[in-house]
Amino acid sequence: MAEEKKALNFIEQIIEEDLQNTHKREELKFRFPPEPNGYLHIGHASSICLNFGLGEKYNAPVNLRFDDTNPIKEEQEFVDAIKEDVLWLGFKWEKECYASDYFQQLYDWAVEMIKNGDAYVDSQTSEEIAMQKGTPTEPGKESPYRKRSIEENLELFEKMKNGETPERGHVLRAKINMESPNMLMRDPVMYRCLHKSHHRTKDTWKIYPMYDWAHGESDFIESISHSFCTLEFLPHRELYNWFVEKVSKEGELKPKQREFARRNLSHTVVSKRKLMQLVEKGVVNSWDDPRMPTISGLRRRGYTPNAVRKFADSIGVGKRENMIDVAHLEFCAREDLNKTAPRVMGVLDPVKLVITNYEEGKEEWLEAENNPEDELAGSREIPFSRELYIEKEDFKESANRKFFRLTLGKEVRLKNAYIIKGEEVVKDAEGNITEIHCTYDPKSRSGSGTEESMRKVKGTLHWVSAKHALETEIRLYDRLFSVENPDGDKEKDFMDFVNPDSLQVIKGYVEPSLKSAGIQDKFQFQRIGYFCVDKESKEGQPIFNRTVTLRDSWAKKK
Ligand code: ATP
Ligand code: MG
Repeated sequence: MAEEKKALNFIEQIIEEDLQNTHKREELKFRFPPEPNGYLHIGHASSICLNFGLGEKYNAPVNLRFDDTNPIKEEQEFVDAIKEDVLWLGFKWEKECYASDYFQQLYDWAVEMIKNGDAYVDSQTSEEIAMQKGTPTEPGKESPYRKRSIEENLELFEKMKNGETPERGHVLRAKINMESPNMLMRDPVMYRCLHKSHHRTKDTWKIYPMYDWAHGESDFIESISHSFCTLEFLPHRELYNWFVEKVSKEGELKPKQREFARRNLSHTVVSKRKLMQLVEKGVVNSWDDPRMPTISGLRRRGYTPNAVRKFADSIGVGKRENMIDVAHLEFCAREDLNKTAPRVMGVLDPVKLVITNYEEGKEEWLEAENNPEDELAGSREIPFSRELYIEKEDFKESANRKFFRLTLGKEVRLKNAYIIKGEEVVKDAEGNITEIHCTYDPKSRSGSGTEESMRKVKGTLHWVSAKHALETEIRLYDRLFSVENPDGDKEKDFMDFVNPDSLQVIKGYVEPSLKSAGIQDKFQFQRIGYFCVDKESKEGQPIFNRTVTLRDSWAKKK
């Protein structure tokens, strides 16, 4: 029992305590409440895994709620993308909800509050209101409109609603306490006039509720028991409770806001607003550009839902903000893809290899295992012939004893094929190697059972048959920012740290079996890394995105 307790994170501890003291198990209900003002990013994945994970753990419903109270920034495109991302991660919501569906209820409650003397219409400009706010150590000043009569307030609020007052004409404020040590309690704005069309309610509303007024009330309407949000909302909790208190009756279960720390990822930015800038300024091509830390970018890059969930679960929830090294995310991708991705051969930077004692015109189809980590993955046949491509860096004309790849006079094995020996190089007028000539040992074929086939040589190289290989576009991605924390320099803008070499497009050669690869199919290019077929591919002509290299090449560079 004691051990079980220890394994609970602090959020689960809160729930367990509430189950002991205040809540019945069937009263547990959670929500994930994105604002549809951009695509979800890896930070949101943490929040999704937390809320939906709690739903799974306690067998409790979880709503997907769009916090769509600001028509200026919100769009249907973002709603659709968010739904796709949550589903892709493998979660199911109980109900799809919209704060905008509660606009009428919120309005009615606001009218009640005016009648009860808890809210008033302020006709000052936002600048004047800001000047009266005071500071954390100095009390604020009451608005000259604070004592407006209830009748006048009701009349003005209705005019606001009907669009009869100009956009910056009035606001509705809660009447709380201008001397509160919590600045958010100093008569916060509940509504502003905004004559903008909303992506769902269209032109029905000329006033829109502020976040603090809408959020807790939406939780209350949906009977959410625990409303988890990020730490910056800690000072909002008092206001959240104050508003809920105003609209609920005694004995009703009230939602409980609790806060956890935002998750940040190194070498990128996790903020929709900043990601939007990258898209708008053309630093990346789209929200789902494989360099983006968006869920859709990671998906297109070749990440699996499992890898993302593993990542979120392994970093867990915390009370303090911290920066997670992107290497950890990459590790989670490798770990999952190693188990699931079929092995294939592809050469990214080719040089021709000619086997001089292999018969011209001859070809063989050799058996190759699809995935040594997965017995059920079976095998396929790959063509072998006299002329192959190997990786340029796998050959050195003269090499020291530690070089276990191909060199003149030494033997290596060609993966799934024969042992070869380097014989000579052919160069062009500039001295560049155009061909490497070698000889092979015909008895050494892998899996043929001969003594020669068991012979151990130091190196094994990947290769493709030149005649059969498929030429493809390969997109190599690197980190989008060249520093760990692009937001960390107060003197500079995060955009100053964009890595100019985050995308390299090359031509490579892959084995012909990949002609039939479908969009999103994932492979391990042996000895190189994991690759995924991009959505821009044409039938029979795949384009590959490098998801992640086989090993962490950054650890070495540091
Ligand atoms: P952004 O600044 O990127 O727009 P946000 O917090 O404004 O982030 P919302 O759409 O309001 O975005 O977020 C939905 C939920 O996801 C909220 O509960 C929020 O607290 C949570 N969330 C957002 N970013 C992170 C993050 N980096 N780590 C953990 N949770 C996050
Ligand atoms: Mg936001």
